Amino acid sequence: MPVTCDVLINNVQLASMQDNGKPYGLIPNASVAIAHGNIVGIFAATDCPAIAKNTVDGNGAWLLPGFIDCHTHLVFGGSRANEFEQRLLGQSYAEIAQQGGGIRATVAATRQASAETLLHSALARAKRLCVEGVTTIEVKSGYGLDLATEIKMLKVAKQLEDHLELNIITTYLGAHALPAEYAGRGDDYIDFICEEVIPHIAKHKLADAVDVFCEKIGFSLAQCRKVFSAAAAHGLRVKAHVEQLSDLQGAKLAAEFQALSVDHIEYLAAHDVGCLKAADCVAVLLPGAFYYLNESQKPPIAALRQHNIPMAVATDLNPGSSPISSILTAMNMACVLFQLSPEEALRGATCHAAKALNLHKHTGKIAQGYAADLCLWDITHPVDLVYGINQYRPRCVWQGGRMRQAV
Ligand SMILES: [Zn+2]
Repeated sequence: MPVTCDVLINNVQLASMQDNGKPYGLIPNASVAIAHGNIVGIFAATDCPAIAKNTVDGNGAWLLPGFIDCHTHLVFGGSRANEFEQRLLGQSYAEIAQQGGGIRATVAATRQASAETLLHSALARAKRLCVEGVTTIEVKSGYGLDLATEIKMLKVAKQLEDHLELNIITTYLGAHALPAEYAGRGDDYIDFICEEVIPHIAKHKLADAVDVFCEKIGFSLAQCRKVFSAAAAHGLRVKAHVEQLSDLQGAKLAAEFQALSVDHIEYLAAHDVGCLKAADCVAVLLPGAFYYLNESQKPPIAALRQHNIPMAVATDLNPGSSPISSILTAMNMACVLFQLSPEEALRGATCHAAKALNLHKHTGKIAQGYAADLCLWDITHPVDLVYGINQYRPRCVWQGGRMRQAV
């Protein structure tokens, strides 16, 4: 019986990221049939029963899932390039912060910027991710901190979908920094987040999840617990920046709330990793921030492997600690700096990134029933994508089964 479909991609090597016992979920010499935006069949290229209106000959190239950047802060106002220069000329973080720099500078610029200005600059950043084959981006708020600016950021993030062919997932990160107007009143700010912002965001479906920065320079365990409780009460999943600069046991708290992911985790103790397994929580590695901060403490990779915790890799694209709009560079860094294998890095930006966003039943793999978010690469092996820096661009990208226009 012939299978009719909309698009048939013939003669490709699949790095499917399925768990089929093969590296990269390899399926050689395959054809992939797409209908109504989803993958409806994977066949041997020599014996393909599918008939399509639109057939693409892969000529033996590699087909991978579209990349998922599961941790970014790509909507923001202003630039922090001047601070990068000041630090290299010998000024300390504390001095820069005293002059109104650091995250407070980005908050001031983001509050001041119009939605149009924010959208314009965010589009440029999202485009740079798209040209590398990214099909889903998570975007966090957290540079507004007040209700109006947080809403503005979340709406701008979602508007990227109107201008680019990609999926946007939004996360409310009110507990990112203490705004100046709440100086010395951290608990009051947490009450504002829990009693005013989270109910509003849940009611208007402005965010898919709620995030916190659990750190000495961020928010305490008790404060993060309050935010998680409010999120849970409003039916929102949580994730957390934890153990980036010190070990506050934030990962354990996040696990208690069945967090989708814990992110950074350089200071997570190896003996605490087990808590993530029970919570089915993804460990999101952010080597870009590690690199920019010239950090030396590495995440507990061996323990994560031992407990079989899915590891995702993301850019953490932000103006302060990780101005990197390249998922391929983040994957390369995860290999060089954290010694991930190329397969771990590639799964980290596909199937495991999908899980960090609770999308793993729908995208992040090339499998029957999954979204046809796909990239065709003229490479000899998937390792090529992780081995070099700035070496490859996909020949073409399908977003929900539609071939994407050049961006
Ligand atoms: Zn972050």
